[in-house]
Amino acid sequence: MTEHSSEILTLTISLEEQAQLDLTFMQRAFELAQQAEQHDEIPVGAVVVHQGKIIGEGFNQSIMLNDPSSHAEMNAIRQAGDFLNNYRLIDCTLYVTLEPCPMCAGLLVHSRIKRLVYACSDHKTGAAGSTFDLVNNPQLNHQIEACSGVMEEECSQLLSAFFKRRRKEKKLVKKAAKDSPL
Ligand SMILES: [Zn+2]
Repeated sequence: MTEHSSEILTLTISLEEQAQLDLTFMQRAFELAQQAEQHDEIPVGAVVVHQGKIIGEGFNQSIMLNDPSSHAEMNAIRQAGDFLNNYRLIDCTLYVTLEPCPMCAGLLVHSRIKRLVYACSDHKTGAAGSTFDLVNNPQLNHQIEACSGVMEEECSQLLSAFFKRRRKEKKLVKKAAKDSPL
């Protein structure tokens, strides 16, 4: 075996190993989504992984920061850029619990993320294939390898429970206003 081919062997991991890694990193993204929920933000979490290590983490903070751009992906990518001291995140994978919106999908292209793994699809605004496909668009100058479905059930349940609770709370507020004698 030549030196070159042994190098390739060490860099190649099996599909099962990749699936295990994907699960481990998505679990961390899920924990971050739970942190968002604790702050009453839409529960979405994201991590950026480089050479098998998490170099950026984020969760939705739009409401608490009064910042519509403060999505989980945006925050994780900012931290990763800081870590790498580079505005391009070459050879990085982004794990996120919900399919990226058009803003974040555009950001993934700008940052040159290599691979995107998301848990559940967003059929309203998902931009990795559900409503638009910005991560694999031949008109853009970078295409991203995308896959979905890792921890889909857990992440989608966390989101639907959150929206259900919020609808209930809004109803209660409305009812209280109606019942008020003033
Ligand atoms: Zn977004």
